[in-house]
Amino acid sequence: MSVWDDVVGQRAATDVLRAAAEDPAAMTHAWLLTGPPGSGRSNAARAFAAALQCEAAGCGRCQACTTALAGTHADVTVIATELVGIKIDETRSLVSLAQRSPSEGRWRVIIVEDADRMSDRTSNVLLKAIEEPPPRTVWLLCAPSPQDVVLTLRSRSRSVALRVPPVEAVADLLVTRDGVDPELAAVAARASQSHIGIARRLARDPGARARRARLLAIPRTIRGVGDAVLAAGELVEVAQDEARAATEHRDAEEKSALLRSMGAEGAATLPPSLRSQVTQLERDQKGRATRAQRDVLDRSMVDLLSLYRDVLVVQLGAGVDLVNTEHAADVRALAEASTPEQSLRRMDAIGEARTRLAGNVAPLLAVEAMAIALRPQG
Ligand SMILES: [Zn+2]
Repeated sequence: MSVWDDVVGQRAATDVLRAAAEDPAAMTHAWLLTGPPGSGRSNAARAFAAALQCEAAGCGRCQACTTALAGTHADVTVIATELVGIKIDETRSLVSLAQRSPSEGRWRVIIVEDADRMSDRTSNVLLKAIEEPPPRTVWLLCAPSPQDVVLTLRSRSRSVALRVPPVEAVADLLVTRDGVDPELAAVAARASQSHIGIARRLARDPGARARRARLLAIPRTIRGVGDAVLAAGELVEVAQDEARAATEHRDAEEKSALLRSMGAEGAATLPPSLRSQVTQLERDQKGRATRAQRDVLDRSMVDLLSLYRDVLVVQLGAGVDLVNTEHAADVRALAEASTPEQSLRRMDAIGEARTRLAGNVAPLLAVEAMAIALRPQG
């Protein structure tokens, strides 16, 4: 057993991190862990943090290992921002934390999970800390790719790239770590296209599976422009519901925790001095909700792309496994009713919608244009 057990399909990357943890003399003070969403970046960062704190370089059983993995180790700080960006104040307090020696562990480890969501100004604050690191401090920055991080930070960090893990490795992880039935694990791993977090949600939450099935059924309901407009409305609505379900509960908890910490729980009116903090929290939460909605909608586009990718596989007789084995009947019906050229054009339309959504076009407008492009052509 070791802390690396759950970092699946990443042998090359874990070899580098493991070697660094085993030989502290060769330690680097700033690391940049990159990999596509769902490849296990933050998992790998936590495992590395545990290995650094452990007397045995990551046994997976001792107090240092278990607390570092669980996120409760006193000397491992994780900044996992789901807000739209990492704030400069937050970064300043991290920088001063980084100056302090570890309180009980071997290293002070600071994990920044979304190093790509920092403004240039914020990156500069961080840069100063990374350029002059105290001897026992290690920064672990995570991002989708090296290009997502400003060059000055990138050039001062040691890069380790994670790859998309193989479907089988993701399925195995669901079976061994989450006790998922092997058949369901295989379906979920394929449907998620090796995104570990999404695979786990699909495997464990029947609601998530139902929403995905509903989404993939939409293309067949589109017969003309009228249907396309309705389908677009439904698609955006499903995404909004899902995003709301994900954030609502936590928003309420955070607000009552804040009021409690200020001793103002249950107060009818807040003194003006406290009101600004509540306003700030609400603004942050709104930012997070916006991001969650955008992420869910983008994920829906990726799911639709996988459907047309399957259609194309059938049309070309490529003999490759389908991503959506559960929807093989829909895939075949769509394949028979169109040509490979049309499938490619539809995939382009979905890609175009993703680009427009990322560029902050009103979601309904972008999705409508896409849905119209999905309708049958004579
Ligand atoms: Zn250990």
